[in-house]
Amino acid sequence: HAKKNRIVDFIFFQPALSDLFQRNAMIESELRKAILYDQIQVYYQPKIELESGKIYGVEALSRWEHPRMGFISPEEFIPIAEESGLIHELGSYVLKKACKQLKVWHESGYEPIQVSVNVSARQFENLKFIEMLKGVLNKTQLSAEYLELEITESIIQNITQSQPLLNELKAIGISLSIDDFGIGYSSLSKLRQLPIDSLKIDRTFINDLNTNDHTIVKTIIEMGHNLHFNLVAEGIENKKQLEILKRYNCQYGQGYLFSKPLPVEEVEHFLTSK
Ligand code: C2E
Ligand code: MG
Ligand code: MG
Ligand code: MG
Repeated sequence: HAKKNRIVDFIFFQPALSDLFQRNAMIESELRKAILYDQIQVYYQPKIELESGKIYGVEALSRWEHPRMGFISPEEFIPIAEESGLIHELGSYVLKKACKQLKVWHESGYEPIQVSVNVSARQFENLKFIEMLKGVLNKTQLSAEYLELEITESIIQNITQSQPLLNELKAIGISLSIDDFGIGYSSLSKLRQLPIDSLKIDRTFINDLNTNDHTIVKTIIEMGHNLHFNLVAEGIENKKQLEILKRYNCQYGQGYLFSKPLPVEEVEHFLTSK
């Protein structure tokens, strides 16, 4: 019976699979052009200090509206960019845009905020990454203290390999944050050996708060604080989650409750004048 199903699956999924390959190949070649012709936009999602409700930073997120294919989610094109190596170009493109934008906001008389930029593991493996980053800071004249890089737990699997690079980033004055914390397998004790500033608690755990399952969130916050990390909750969608997070002394967060990622003009409503 099982064997028969496998044959049915094979025949049935064959066309779907080739469609997927075709779409991926199309996305890869279109993405190459989109970067070249400046068709990728950067949106910014406010990061909030939970007690005061004030914005203290934004996360830069890539947005791609393809003229024919329509909206393509980063969940779809980032993995393709990573596999094809296009992530290096895309990564520096987004970093440049974000740093430039921050500098504009700083010079417009707003209370200065920080920008967080997502960095893929593959970018970290690139020996020219640090040079590229210094180049961008130098060119945009954004002070490194206003830049944070969001990296995933996979980057730090190999501590001996990642430590020198992280130390170098830290020495420049950049902040480092672990994105989607809790779904990988890095232990907090391993993390404390690295110059990490913040942990972003993965959305799935914030979601658990809706069903009164506080265990993991509470544990991450308590242990994180004991190890002197800043704690940021991602994916806060309702007041109930917010109240629970505040009760456990989680200081920072972001999510649709405050704002979805926004284009430049709309972020400005959140900024306060000096
Ligand atoms: P991420 O870095 O964990 O970013 C947070 C994702 O959660 C974003 O999805 C954001 O729109 C979404 N989000 C924020 N608040 C809420 C909420 O309250 N509820 C829900 N359901 N979702 C929320 P987005 O923009 O689709 O990005 C997905 C992922 O793609 C990002 O996850 C990040 O890993 C990656 N990504 C996006 N832009 C870039 C980029 O420029 N470079 C790299 N390397 N990765 C990127
Ligand atoms: Mg992120
Ligand atoms: Mg995240
Ligand atoms: Mg995520």
